[in-house]
Amino acid sequence: MVEFLRRYNLSLQLGFLIIALCSFSYYNYISQKSLFLKQLQNDSSDLLQSVRSSIVKFNSIERTLSISSLVSNMSFKLEIFEFRYLDSEGVVVNSMFEDEVGKPYDHPGIELALKQDGEFSEYYSMGQYYVEERDLTKVMAITFPVQEGERRYGIIDLAVDIGEFDYIPDASRDAVMSRLQKDTTNLLNAIAGSIVSRVKVFETLDLPDFLSALVAQTGGTREVSLADENGVIYSSSRKELYGDKESIVQFRSQRFRQHDGKHEYLMMVPLNPEESTGDVMLLAIDADHYVDNERKLRFTSIATSLLAIIVSVTIAYAIYSINLRRAREENIRLEKMVEERTDELRRISQTDKLTGLANRSYLEEHLEIEFKRSLRYQLPLTLAVVDLDHFKRVNDTFGHLAGDAVLREIGARLRAELRETDFVGRFGGEEFVVIFINTSLEGSLKLAELLRRMVEVSPVHFEGQDIPVTASIGVAIRNSAHEGYKEIFADADQALYQAKEQGRNCICYVNDGEVLRYHSKTVIDD
Ligand code: GH3
Ligand code: MG
Ligand code: MG
Repeated sequence: MVEFLRRYNLSLQLGFLIIALCSFSYYNYISQKSLFLKQLQNDSSDLLQSVRSSIVKFNSIERTLSISSLVSNMSFKLEIFEFRYLDSEGVVVNSMFEDEVGKPYDHPGIELALKQDGEFSEYYSMGQYYVEERDLTKVMAITFPVQEGERRYGIIDLAVDIGEFDYIPDASRDAVMSRLQKDTTNLLNAIAGSIVSRVKVFETLDLPDFLSALVAQTGGTREVSLADENGVIYSSSRKELYGDKESIVQFRSQRFRQHDGKHEYLMMVPLNPEESTGDVMLLAIDADHYVDNERKLRFTSIATSLLAIIVSVTIAYAIYSINLRRAREENIRLEKMVEERTDELRRISQTDKLTGLANRSYLEEHLEIEFKRSLRYQLPLTLAVVDLDHFKRVNDTFGHLAGDAVLREIGARLRAELRETDFVGRFGGEEFVVIFINTSLEGSLKLAELLRRMVEVSPVHFEGQDIPVTASIGVAIRNSAHEGYKEIFADADQALYQAKEQGRNCICYVNDGEVLRYHSKTVIDD
């Protein structure tokens, strides 16, 4: 495996592929995860808004008592000219004039009015009706305490339009007036009673209960806690957290936690969005869904990476297998080619270019082997040296190319005439050597005679010319005195010399150190 990676440089490509796929998968995981988180944060901030506004509403609920509807419901046929309710701090909780609501009421003596009964200014007495002109209209006004026992909750400032009263005859006006005061007093008592009971309701309902109810109502919220600016929890839907500072630290240091085996996402915001310091609200929301999704995403990411690795390795291995098979096939092909070329080269190095016969060096190589073999097995070994007669003349008469053609033709005739086991080579120039293996001297001479005749029998044709050719042959057989093939060769050469001497186109041979001429009828005793 390692070897093939190195060999085909696949490790690098494979590495890149795996890293790329794994990075992609990791990137996908990270971006999806942050998307989930964003979703969770969006959801929680919506939740946060609604919880925060509920709490703020709870805190300010006293001020939003809908007294105006109370007034309009209970005022019968009174023509209310002015109506406002001030809490014990002098802040307008309810008024016919909406822009006054939430602000301290600015009026001389109102501070005293809040604190004490009876006459608190030269004009007004607490709970006493008086008549005066307001905005060119005659009104009957009263400053009425909202009170239960010793506790003063606030005051109602009421004015009723009595402009119409001017048209009532003097005699009955007082009666009508006293009737009106009775009605108004009844109304004020009812309103005051209602205010007292509502305030008491809100005072007895505690914040933790409210928060618990809130958590129960808003699906997805697990805990709502309120802490002061020092991080001390003063109210929580989980009562065991009161006075706790640790859970604030937890909120600050982590975003996720496990509580009662469930996952929660933690958020902390100022209770009042306009103030960065002050009370904070802590919110733990259900994050099981998120954690579940995140786990699935992680699993997918790991699975994708593993798949990428498996696919990459499989592809690489397939490529390797194909390459290996190709390399093997190529190897075999090359080996075969080298073998063929080597054979070819050997053949070329052993062959004479002109005649296609064995060249001198191959001839001598072969001769040496055959000499040793004949010596070991005591077999006859005969050499015949064939030399074309007056070949110089052929060249001189017909030209060098004609000479070449003659050499080619004679070489072919010699080869054709010999047995498969006999060996013929061109020794050099116009001289051929034939090796007769395991053949008697007489047999060899007969064959030599056959060769001589084959040369003589017909002229060589070259470019429309007939070139007559003859050859002289010297034959020698190995004897016990010979120590190497060169000595047989020397004998054969000597015999050839004699053949030339004796008029050419004939065969001479060496027998027992004597050079003799061969006639076809000669019988030799071996
Ligand atoms: P002899 O009968 O005494 O053998 O006479 P010869 O002319 O055949 O002998 P010699 O040794 O005097 O001449 C051999 C000639 O063979 C000389 C050379 O030009 C010629 N020869 C040698 N090799 C080649 C060859 O490859 N091609 C051709 N065309 N001629 C060659
Ligand atoms: Mg010669
Ligand atoms: Mg010659």
